[in-house]
Amino acid sequence: MRTQIESLLLSEVSLPGQYIGGELGSIVKPKDSVKGRLCFAFPDVYTIGMSNYGLQLLYALMNRRPDWACERAFAPYPDMEKALRKHKLPLYSLETFSPLSEFDVLGFSLQYELTFTNVLTMLDLGGVPLHCADRTMSDPLVIAGGPSASNPEPMSDFIDLFIIGDGEEALPAVCDFWLEMKGDGRQQTANLDGRQQTADGSREARRQALLETAREFPFVAVPQFYSVPSPPGRGLGWGQTGKSPHPSPLPKGEGTVVATLPKGEGTICPRPTEPGVPEIVCPARVENIDAFEPPILRIVPTVECVQDRVAIEIMRGCPGRCKFCISTVQKRPIRTRSPESIARIAKESCLATGSNEVSLLSLSTSDYPQFEELMTKLREELCPLNVSVSVPSLRVNHQLSDVMRQLTTERTSGLTLAPEAALDEMRRRIGKPITNEHLLAGCESAFNNGFNRVKMYFMCGFPEETNADIDGIVELSAAVSRMGRKIRGKSVTVIANVSNFVPKPHTPWERLGMATQGYFLNAHDELRLRSKRTGIALKYHDMETSLLEALLCRGDRRLGRVIERAWQLGARLDSWSDYFRGDCWEQAIAETGTDVNKIVHEPVPDDAELPWGYVRF
Ligand code: SF4
Repeated sequence: MRTQIESLLLSEVSLPGQYIGGELGSIVKPKDSVKGRLCFAFPDVYTIGMSNYGLQLLYALMNRRPDWACERAFAPYPDMEKALRKHKLPLYSLETFSPLSEFDVLGFSLQYELTFTNVLTMLDLGGVPLHCADRTMSDPLVIAGGPSASNPEPMSDFIDLFIIGDGEEALPAVCDFWLEMKGDGRQQTANLDGRQQTADGSREARRQALLETAREFPFVAVPQFYSVPSPPGRGLGWGQTGKSPHPSPLPKGEGTVVATLPKGEGTICPRPTEPGVPEIVCPARVENIDAFEPPILRIVPTVECVQDRVAIEIMRGCPGRCKFCISTVQKRPIRTRSPESIARIAKESCLATGSNEVSLLSLSTSDYPQFEELMTKLREELCPLNVSVSVPSLRVNHQLSDVMRQLTTERTSGLTLAPEAALDEMRRRIGKPITNEHLLAGCESAFNNGFNRVKMYFMCGFPEETNADIDGIVELSAAVSRMGRKIRGKSVTVIANVSNFVPKPHTPWERLGMATQGYFLNAHDELRLRSKRTGIALKYHDMETSLLEALLCRGDRRLGRVIERAWQLGARLDSWSDYFRGDCWEQAIAETGTDVNKIVHEPVPDDAELPWGYVRF
């Protein structure tokens, strides 16, 4: 297979280095030396997947086990997909060039809803039946985890089971259990007679194996064992695509964007159909993240990736309770890695890989309880190696100015803050208790300590947002820019990155409707206009993909038809603006009669069930 790929394919694709594996740190185990084989399938391209901390961690943990091999596969670019189809070759793993269909378990990491069609591409190219219902015991168990698995319903036609919560202990436990089930299933199939010994029998054996898995683990969701009652008066269709109840232009003055919650018809929540299947699926949690050490020798990519540095998760969870934030819900409770362990891993990893940057990962790094001690230890270990430390997520509070003084190795990458809103009053409403006073003091301290770059993340489309909130984004960013110029004596880089608020499942605002396309377009126009000649760099998220994200994260299992149809029509790599095909989604939505307005823009009444209601964090 490898020879065929090298001789037939690589000359036909861009960036061929991403398709050949063999990187420093990758682990190749002979197939017959292990009991089980897992392929970690990342449904985005190599350069994104290789920057993912979870991939590196779980790959190392599974490969530390002598009885399992963990390999990797990524979504191909369209030129590679075309070449594979042209030469009738399957999508394969980078370690042993095995077709995906050969693995015992295929594990997808769902980081983002706009990667859903990539899962279908990978299954199809890998020779794995697209639908769970068509798989037999000979096919891999197709599992998924990650942030977008917390509403399993939209992808439930394609994913056999979802692991909710932390993967460190849950993933190996499910893999081991499946191997046992697979052994039993083969035996059951062999005991059957005639026609039953073939596909039908094997499908039934698989169903039994999945049922046992659903019963065994409280953190596993197997959607096929949950039934969906038809909502009253709606049958199986989704009704007609209607006009949005929020065709609001940007309100002038004190307007309201998102309505309060009316009573009325809601959505549907699946119920267990089999005894022993948990009514509510609860997340897996590891108590001590220090017990799961990231690899000292991580896989070092051979092609340039989005992020290529040593990444260490220093804390899981966030003390914040922002009402829009799904991460704080999914990562609870707070758990930390010790400063000694972080400093040792950082030093050893830099020596092993030659990296000159360490990134400290957490949702809110400056809330790490021993932050000062950690920075002292890192300075001691890393300054002699000329390694810098980047801290991607700092909380804006009274300590920010002090933190800036401690980050003496971090100046090149700049200061990144997430004020989310520009006015203190809006921040109070969204549950993010930070003030502009602290933010400006922190920026002042950063500029005084040598920083030349500040990046700030904002959102628009919050409930009860007004013009003042939108204009405030530009005003606050411009104020930071002016301050920087004054302190540094030259112009500084200030980036305002504005995303569109999507009411995510499991958050306190899960029942709200999203503001309309018209609202966001007006808001973006306003931002663009106001930011002219201010010296700030303004970036805002594309409206179409934000609406699609909302549809895919808030829908129920009928979304599977939309995802599959859009994919059949050519939707690929939806999170990449170069490849996004809004026309495919529009057609799929129209053909399936999907009521986008109901799913995306209408608030869900308090007394209505939610499609993700059987998963609880
Ligand atoms: S501070 Fe950040 S991570 Fe924490 S709850 Fe708020 S938005 Fe989420």
